[in-house]
Amino acid sequence: MLKITKFGGSSVATAAQFKKIKDIIRADSARRFVVVSAAGRRFPDDNKVTDLLYLVCAHRAYHVDATDLLEDVEERFLAIKDGLGLTFPVAEKFAEFASHIGSDSEEYIVSRGEWFTAHLMAEYLGLPFVDAADVIVFHHDGTLNEERTDELVRATVKRLGKFCMPGFYGATSDGEIKLMERGGGDITGSLLARALSADLYENWTDVSGFLSADPSLVDEPRTIDRITFDEMRELSYMGASVLHEDAIFPVREANIPIQILNTNDPENTGTIIREHVEHHEGDPVVTGIAGRKDFLSVYVDKTHLSNMVGALRRVLAIFERYGISIEHLPTGIDSFSVVVNAADVKNSIYSIVRDIKEELEPDEVKVIDGLALVSVVGRNMSKRPGTSGKILTTLGDAGINVRMISQSSQEITIIVGVNERDFAETVRRVYDAFVREEV
Ligand code: ASP
Repeated sequence: MLKITKFGGSSVATAAQFKKIKDIIRADSARRFVVVSAAGRRFPDDNKVTDLLYLVCAHRAYHVDATDLLEDVEERFLAIKDGLGLTFPVAEKFAEFASHIGSDSEEYIVSRGEWFTAHLMAEYLGLPFVDAADVIVFHHDGTLNEERTDELVRATVKRLGKFCMPGFYGATSDGEIKLMERGGGDITGSLLARALSADLYENWTDVSGFLSADPSLVDEPRTIDRITFDEMRELSYMGASVLHEDAIFPVREANIPIQILNTNDPENTGTIIREHVEHHEGDPVVTGIAGRKDFLSVYVDKTHLSNMVGALRRVLAIFERYGISIEHLPTGIDSFSVVVNAADVKNSIYSIVRDIKEELEPDEVKVIDGLALVSVVGRNMSKRPGTSGKILTTLGDAGINVRMISQSSQEITIIVGVNERDFAETVRRVYDAFVREEV
């Protein structure tokens, strides 16, 4: 049995958090590979080390002295070192790092958050430290060199048997540090899991799994215990996020499940994400609900549109010309709507409407803004007829006007468009009707 364990920023924020990690690692001999983020927030309005390091770079760019900031960062690592009685020479290594900060790349500077954290963690857990720059290989264009990375990870494992490694960065073949996107430590863990064909990728956070709705909208939403990769992607896309979106691709290809766990409540089994989830009696029809505001829909109506060849393509080409990505495309017989992020078309919406009028000569083009989309996601919805009917009735009874409804082709998502002012109420009503009442 082999598990990759990845600990997020808040899990490694203090000496006390490090102690919890030691207990977690000791509790299971399959946990031989540990990936860490940089020390994160210790309390709600604290700063993450990564943010402080970005700020150091911003100071440098404007020739502003960053000594105080660097001291804050060093202080974070010294507190962990002293709190645990470690010997890693934080002060010396930090002085060395600070001495050439003027000439280092931003990516190098920011990556030191993970580097210092992983050094401290490696010593504390008694594991060899492996620098991500030596095993996670990027091409010069910033894409991952998968083959080389897999080879190096496997060779390192052969040599050392177990290790602790910083997440979030790697390097090109000539040693230039490259960062992943923010939150990318999740991707590092996933890459290791794939390279080693792990049985499980454990992603340790400060929440006990994936919630079925946003807790700021719904009172005590239940935790999703099992979810498929597809469902998770649908929910993450609409804003429900615990895991970096790109972290699912490597493990998914290799059919390795991910478990979201809580360092502060390790007994809780959290959420397990896999390709297929067996159907259990009593599983709710709806797995989760997520949504976002700030969408806009361009409604196009033209008599005999259904008989016109290429009309849709021509309208889509107009959006393409303005570099706009399309979110949804609900169609009727003689009409369709193009739903986009309002912010994306802020500067081009008038030109887009003008071009549609010129090129299609429609009967009507209407822009509907202030639209919120709510995704109702559930692998079991396809087995249960009447789900969209029930959503519409639920919202109708609540006096909420549904401006659009659309179903994904795999039938795992039903998307309803409502006025932004009805957003929170829509999420609550759907949650109450499908999740709260079914369990
Ligand atoms: N430390 C990085 C960030 O704050 C990466 C990570 O935590 O995964 O974005």
